[in-house]
Amino acid sequence: MFLARDSLVGKPKVIFRDTRSKNEHDHDFHMSHLSTDVLIIGAGGAGMYAAIAAARNGASVLLLDKSQVGRGGATIMAQMTVAVALGEQEPDSVQLHFQDTLTAGRGLCNEELAYLLCDDGPKRIREMAEWGTRWAREDGHIKQEMAPGHRVKRCCYVDFLNTGPAVAATLRRKVSEIAAIRRISNLAVVEMLVRDGQVIGAVGVNLVDGQWVSIEARAVILAAGGLTKLFERNSASANMGGEAYAMALWAGAELIDMEFVQFFPIGHLAPRLVGMDPIMWDPFRYKLGGKLLNGRFEEFVDRYGSTDFGKYNATRDIAAYAILKEVEAGRGTPHGGAYLDFRHIPAAQLRGAFGPVVDRLLANGIDLTKTPVEVSPIAHYHMGGIRVDANMETRVAGLYAAGEAVGGANGANRLSGNAITEAFVFGERAGASAALKVKSESAPWDDMAATAALERLRDSPCTESSDAPTPISLLAELQKLMWEKAGPFRTGDQLLSAQRQIARIQRELPRLRIGSQGAFNLDLQDWFELRAMLTTAAAVVKSALARCESRGAHQREDFPAPDESFLKNQIVEMRNDELITRWVAPVCLRD
Ligand SMILES: Cc1cc2nc3c(=O)[nH]c(=O)nc-3n(C[C@H](O)[C@H](O)[C@H](O)COP(=O)(O)OP(=O)(O)OC[C@H]3O[C@@H](n4cnc5c(N)ncnc54)[C@H](O)[C@@H]3O)c2cc1C
Repeated sequence: MFLARDSLVGKPKVIFRDTRSKNEHDHDFHMSHLSTDVLIIGAGGAGMYAAIAAARNGASVLLLDKSQVGRGGATIMAQMTVAVALGEQEPDSVQLHFQDTLTAGRGLCNEELAYLLCDDGPKRIREMAEWGTRWAREDGHIKQEMAPGHRVKRCCYVDFLNTGPAVAATLRRKVSEIAAIRRISNLAVVEMLVRDGQVIGAVGVNLVDGQWVSIEARAVILAAGGLTKLFERNSASANMGGEAYAMALWAGAELIDMEFVQFFPIGHLAPRLVGMDPIMWDPFRYKLGGKLLNGRFEEFVDRYGSTDFGKYNATRDIAAYAILKEVEAGRGTPHGGAYLDFRHIPAAQLRGAFGPVVDRLLANGIDLTKTPVEVSPIAHYHMGGIRVDANMETRVAGLYAAGEAVGGANGANRLSGNAITEAFVFGERAGASAALKVKSESAPWDDMAATAALERLRDSPCTESSDAPTPISLLAELQKLMWEKAGPFRTGDQLLSAQRQIARIQRELPRLRIGSQGAFNLDLQDWFELRAMLTTAAAVVKSALARCESRGAHQREDFPAPDESFLKNQIVEMRNDELITRWVAPVCLRD
């Protein structure tokens, strides 16, 4: 019998069964076994909301995270805006939010998912308020701000760049109050277990002691977030390597629109900023304006088919494109970006809007009344992802997805603020659907299959001579090549070269240098992450290569215009270890 620790609660829990390796020669291979109705992989906004919804619909829930539950991933990093048609500041409607979402999505949104996001968003935000989130208010009304692409003030927030930490805290507290939810931190799930087309659980590794874990579940929700860590310049936490997408593919599910990675236009570039979020400039611009200038201190976004200064309504794809084109034309800033200039704003106004943040900037040596900062695009969010129906179920029975792991709702470009809403709405829907599913017939657990999978996984990475590269060095190489060849601007030749390099790294994967220690083995953690990142990167590159047009976040320099014949979604699946793509018509809303 083994003990595992729910590290958040801090009390030891007995894990139910100890299954030893069937290999008699191997005395070190221990595995623990867990069992639950609904297994949730990833405890960000989507995973925690899914856990609450599954539990209130009668299921027992196991909520796992490779980081600390409720403290890893993007949700806790998100700063300010949550887009919902509350209509508290000015008249708004679900229809209007839906229309804005479709416009930003450039014709490729899954309308069913987009509508669900807009329709359920207000319920989730008000529910979060009941659970203790202190949305900023004015005269008792929730405050809402304007943001690019939204026609009305629609974006609510918790003050001073605190929205993500505040909503994560609310959900952590709520989850901890529900007895039916067990939480386990530091457990990285590495593969799904599927039998007869139905998911039966998953396998993973306890990062603290290196023990293998099998998990038996009647339904599984992949809520493991996005993929922006694939790119060298990113706003990601350590855990956003796109593992959900790879695990979904390996399990037999489909992905959709993997070419659409959103590059946030004004990620911080210089001067050096320590301990602050690289995308913190967005809320500054919403509230205060702020001039986006090229290296010659000229406004330039208007030259690229949009307006910006004063209104700040250039959508993310256009702003990112405009900055990179100015740099390419030799009109960039010293570090290769654009200036963001607040010097025209009086100090008192700056301080009134963002006092505590202004102080933190001053501690970093940045005085906004005197110094423009340099900004440039940074990989930030993924519009593509796991293909699901309106219940968040994949084509593998019992396998669901939630949050940024889901693809399709935002089409070719996401409106700011839609991602947190999506995490809550899709999390709630996935949790409720999975709880319903466990009441129906499901495939029985297969002990032998789990042991076989774990033995195969244990033997996958092998220690080579000390000359072999480490997983982390290849991970860095992958990030660099993805940024340079599959980043904000792409060409067919660059993408083909990326494909070849990804295949080469994949061939090197079995022969990397892995330290032999059991506990806290970072090499092993990096190895499994790299394995998943390579599959996900291959899906992004293959999809980008096939879309011979520029649309939304996908910009092909060799096909610079949108092409109506590509007004369709691209599906990726894995057959015999090979990625296969095909096109489908976008899902339209049924009356
Ligand atoms: C810096 C930043 C600022 C942002 N600001 C905003 C904003 O203001 N408004 C907005 O709408 N959106 C914003 N976004 C986007 C938004 O935060 C995300 O899309 C959303 O929070 C995703 O929620 P999620 O629950 O799907 O994923 P996450 O919150 O990323 O959670 C995923 C979890 O899965 C875990 N995990 C990953 N792999 C595994 C594995 N193999 N095994 C176990 N666990 C695993 C991770 O540790 C993580 O805790 C921002 C994103 C970033 C990075």
